[in-house]
Amino acid sequence: MALIIKRPNGTEDVIPKNINKWNTVENTARDVASMYGFKEIRIPTFENTELFQRSVGETTDVVQKEMYSVIAKETKFTLRPEGTAGTIRAMMQNGLLNEAMPQKVFYILSCFRHERPQAGRLREFHQFGVEMAGSSLPSADADVISMANDIINMLEIKNVELKINSIGCPKCRAEYHKALKGYFENKKDKLCDTCLSRLEKNPMRILDCKSPVCSEIAKDAPLILDYLCDECSEHFEKLKSYLDNLNIKFKVDPKIVRGLDYYTKTVFEFVTTDIGAQGTICGGGRYDGLIEQMGGQKTPALGFAMGLERLILTMENQGISFADDMQCSLYIAPMDESIVPYAMKLAAELRSSGLWVEYDTVGRGLKSQMKYSDKLGAAFTMVLGENEINEKKAKLKNMKTGEETDIILDSSFSKHFSDIAIGEMFDEVLENI
Ligand code: ATP
Ligand code: MG
Repeated sequence: MALIIKRPNGTEDVIPKNINKWNTVENTARDVASMYGFKEIRIPTFENTELFQRSVGETTDVVQKEMYSVIAKETKFTLRPEGTAGTIRAMMQNGLLNEAMPQKVFYILSCFRHERPQAGRLREFHQFGVEMAGSSLPSADADVISMANDIINMLEIKNVELKINSIGCPKCRAEYHKALKGYFENKKDKLCDTCLSRLEKNPMRILDCKSPVCSEIAKDAPLILDYLCDECSEHFEKLKSYLDNLNIKFKVDPKIVRGLDYYTKTVFEFVTTDIGAQGTICGGGRYDGLIEQMGGQKTPALGFAMGLERLILTMENQGISFADDMQCSLYIAPMDESIVPYAMKLAAELRSSGLWVEYDTVGRGLKSQMKYSDKLGAAFTMVLGENEINEKKAKLKNMKTGEETDIILDSSFSKHFSDIAIGEMFDEVLENI
């Protein structure tokens, strides 16, 4: 027998019994996004590799180690490791940035990163993310952070801390980079190879290194907050006052620099302690230079992305319930094959009024049909035989209570059991479950 092929390491299947978890999270995120005026965008799964090199940045872990790239017909493509680059590219390419500002979009998509798989860290994972282009004001930062906060609250996730920081603009960062270089220079021989090259190109990246040795060395490094220019500092102070105004609790964490190169000024993370080491469920910030860096007109922008697997994991660990799937209203059990056409028609009728209705399609006997109906979790079962058809009467069995109710099947045959009473009665009985 042929060997069964398994899914690749670091990928996951979502089987039907778990899909309600995903629907709960995605529907909530969609609902909140629309309350903030964000519209959905869909972008390709892969882009030209250069897009990520130019936007995410050559000195980041993502570009240096984690991208899945292929050369196909001499062109280099990469599976998107994140959503911002492709989304901004699409906004530019489709002229959205020429429309009235701010432009606000959201996405739900899969991302691909070659990382070491562990709880909350996958090679294919999913993000809900938003991008807002066209505002340089801290009120925009507050609006976007408030939206992430609302999603987390609507999902009833607890034990989450919002951490914010400002990583300044290229102006104040020049000074800061000098200070960092000075600090790391005489500790050079202990840094990992990646950080050594970062020291030259982008020393701030060292602060984000996951190696325990580098993070130990980075502990006493100079803090960006001490180097902010007046404009960045004022922006940060205003944001903090806006968050206070919205009663959104936060902690300033000068250690947050975020993993991607394009951030300026505000960066933030929502972190939970309930899912182990990979506790960042949402990360975001401002990237005022990105659009220009990508060849567009200088346009301030910001956004965030939430890891859907981590949100779901947090909810599971916190015992939060997910919205239930639709319930099967009726299982129709035809006594034999000659009754199937009636069952079929009746099911069609009831489905057109929005009910989940099933009938036997595998040829089970009556007894095992009843068992199957129970397994389906059907609210009611109706046995249909010749008598029922002839007398236009049937019994509706409430599967929870076992109670049976007589119902009349409308005699007008051409309408095929279109007894409106059935629909009404269902509503009534369903309410009383
Ligand atoms: P981390 O520090 O955990 O590696 P990151 O800074 O690389 O995160 P971002 O690029 O900001 O993450 O992505 C936004 C969010 O996407 C993260 O906060 C996290 O919830 C989720 N995420 C990132 N990488 C993964 C992954 N490999 N598996 C699952 N979720 C992920
Ligand atoms: Mg990462």
